[in-house]
Amino acid sequence: MSTIADNIAQVEARIRAAALAVQRDVTSVHLLAVSKTKPAAALRDAYAAGLRDFGENYLQEARAKQVELADLPLCWHFIGPIQSNKTRDIAEHFAWVHSVDRLKIAQRLSEQRPDGLPPLNICIQVNVSGEASKSGCAPADLPALAHAISALPRLTLRGLMAIPEPTDERAEQDAAFAKVRELQEGLNMGLDTLSMGMSHDLESAIAQGATWVRIGTALFGARDYSQA
Ligand SMILES: *Cc1c(COP(=O)(O)O)cnc(C)c1O
Repeated sequence: MSTIADNIAQVEARIRAAALAVQRDVTSVHLLAVSKTKPAAALRDAYAAGLRDFGENYLQEARAKQVELADLPLCWHFIGPIQSNKTRDIAEHFAWVHSVDRLKIAQRLSEQRPDGLPPLNICIQVNVSGEASKSGCAPADLPALAHAISALPRLTLRGLMAIPEPTDERAEQDAAFAKVRELQEGLNMGLDTLSMGMSHDLESAIAQGATWVRIGTALFGARDYSQA
């Protein structure tokens, strides 16, 4: 087995164990392979080993890989910070955006989503770590933002995304992810998606209801930003 196939098997085993531990159906947890800084060849290996959904943070880098991998039926997710001047490319070339945290960006994505494509799936990134994190909508602003986004014609609001402060304390992980789930429940909008959990905390995220875990390091190894 290639290293990536081996890593995928290990991550899938962690996901299964985490779902089993809280009696969740494992098919309700989806694996998003976070491929930022990794070459197209690594994504091709992951595809060969069965993965279809890939998450990218940097538009230019993502577009280059999309062109290189155009022969594969991949599903692309944008998960990084979004500048206004990048929305058109995102609207045209991705199926999901996990990192929407303000209405202006959502409005542009809706206006720029091509008619021939299905609505763009959206998660609102919420900031559940207060001062510690700068991206993400404040919990107090979430209901108004969620209702405004759900009214936009070319978007489908699916749920929430969060990147809590990293910690090795399971109780702290659980508390942060539980807060995201409670915020989603509080909206009472029938949303089906919680995008939360990364390589170090996927067990906690799954215990608290994650439907997408976004995994980079555990699949592809450590990232080397000096080469990026
Ligand atoms: C890089 C990144 C991940 C993956 O993190 P790992 O710790 O490498 O699994 C997940 N989500 C977002 C938004 C990221 O930027």
